[in-house]
Amino acid sequence: MPPAALITGYLALTVLPLVLAVAFAERLPGPLRAGGIALGLIGFAMLLLQFVSSGRFEALSSKIGINHTMRFHQLAARMLLLFLIVHPLLFFVPERIDDVPGAARMLVRMLFSDYMLSGTISLALLLFMVAGGIWRHRTPVKYEIWRATHVVAAAVVAVAGAHHVFQVGNYSQVIWLRSFWWILLAVALGALGYSYFVKPWLLARRAYRVFAVRELGERIWEVVLEPQETSGQGAGIKFAAGQFAWVNFRAGALPLFDNPFSISSAPGELPRIRLLIKARGDTSGRVGELKPGHKAYLDAPHGNFTLEGRSADALYLIAGGIGIAPIMSILRDLAYKGDKRPVSVLFGARNSRQLVYADELERLTAVLNLKLQFSVDEPGPDWAGDVGELDAALIERALPLAAERCLCLVCGPPPMMLAVEQHPRVLGVPPGNIVYERFEYD
Ligand SMILES: Cc1cc2nc3c(=O)[nH]c(=O)nc-3n(C[C@H](O)[C@H](O)[C@H](O)COP(=O)(O)OP(=O)(O)OC[C@H]3O[C@@H](n4cnc5c(N)ncnc54)[C@H](O)[C@@H]3O)c2cc1C
Repeated sequence: MPPAALITGYLALTVLPLVLAVAFAERLPGPLRAGGIALGLIGFAMLLLQFVSSGRFEALSSKIGINHTMRFHQLAARMLLLFLIVHPLLFFVPERIDDVPGAARMLVRMLFSDYMLSGTISLALLLFMVAGGIWRHRTPVKYEIWRATHVVAAAVVAVAGAHHVFQVGNYSQVIWLRSFWWILLAVALGALGYSYFVKPWLLARRAYRVFAVRELGERIWEVVLEPQETSGQGAGIKFAAGQFAWVNFRAGALPLFDNPFSISSAPGELPRIRLLIKARGDTSGRVGELKPGHKAYLDAPHGNFTLEGRSADALYLIAGGIGIAPIMSILRDLAYKGDKRPVSVLFGARNSRQLVYADELERLTAVLNLKLQFSVDEPGPDWAGDVGELDAALIERALPLAAERCLCLVCGPPPMMLAVEQHPRVLGVPPGNIVYERFEYD
């Protein structure tokens, strides 16, 4: 489904409850109360749709990319929270605008009445979830704990919210609207159940095992995986060069413990798959200890950092540090396919020990029409290449052809992405021809 159709479908589904309420209502309330009801209806529809934009559904992430999917999920969460906070306020605060303490007392009484309790629980938990998502990095809470809490809280928010809608919402007594909420609630909980119960079961049936692990650079490991079964269901996944997998190295395939890693091998190397992993934390920090035969579960393919469906006369690939992983996949695939278009790779890293695959890149120049440009922040005494950040001058020098004829793919850590983001635009690469993959969501 193209992105425009996804956006239209999303808008239609969020407005549909309002349309149904207006179409079948016996009488309409005054404008402020109507505004409160509208925000409640739209906000709750957005809330249930959040379960689908969780980044777990390839049909979404492969169309608009994982970065856009997650950014959408975060922004929609903030917007729907605002709608649902204003929703009860519009019912009576404007009428009591000159009596703020009275309005506050009434609000508290209302929120804690038995009648409203499910709505209040749902709203309070939602506030906790959104705040937790925004400030997660500033707390010592482990990622897995945050994620488990997020999932359980999401289910409670949806069920308590639905209880509130059915119990309190006058318009939700209309059969069409009632049916709409039941269907959307089933979709939301179904999406959660699929991700956390059905999917792990499916992944366990086509498990992978570690074939080899080798250290390629400073705290950077290449992990080679192969399917446990070489035929039938276990024969492995299909992917387009540049896509990523949710990888779980722990016992059982419970997705609380999976991490996103780009596939660095080409589809031509299937059924084996290579990952390039930089030791950063709990999981990635232990990758070097993995032994051959260790089980791994791969939920893939995800993401749209690929050349699929994109055409250009030349390719401009910009990688920062570990961002070289999906770019290697693309280059290896181009070599497999004998692509003769001009390709330029600009690869920046902290030091030359982190310029992994530099030798293979040099070798690829014999097969591809490839221009290489390396830069490091901390040059050693033997370093003869560029030094420093990927700035405008360096980016311009590495351009393979006139900017407007290039497709530019950029992948790296957040600070590098921010620095690079402006330059291809300045150089004239059309914004639609620049694809970004961020290795962090916020
Ligand atoms: C699309 C995508 C592709 C990526 N490809 C690669 C790659 O090819 N090679 C590579 O080394 N790294 C890659 N990363 C980054 C990698 O996912 C994180 O470094 C890794 O998840 C850190 O987990 P940890 O348990 O080692 O660290 P932790 O100490 O648990 O966390 C370190 C940071 O990583 C983030 N993180 C942890 N777990 C997850 C998770 N499950 N999902 C999202 N973020 C998480 C947390 O926000 C935390 O701030 C990619 C990230 C994304 C989003």
